[in-house]
Amino acid sequence: MKATVLKDKCCGYGICAEICPSIFKVDDQGFAYVEDSEVSDDLVEAAQEASESCPESAIVVE
Ligand code: SF4
Repeated sequence: MKATVLKDKCCGYGICAEICPSIFKVDDQGFAYVEDSEVSDDLVEAAQEASESCPESAIVVE
């Protein structure tokens, strides 16, 4: 699976990075990005939870 942050939707709450810091990082302006978009099996659940918790629906995990 792959995780993507839709930059135009992210408003920088940082919730994703709190839920799943292995995948989602926050840049120095507070916006989320993904360092390595490949989601390993053990992180799928956390990545999906981060996606569901994003108030801007800015995370795609598929
Ligand atoms: S939770 Fe959503 S809006 Fe907040 S930093 Fe992450 S991607 Fe951006």
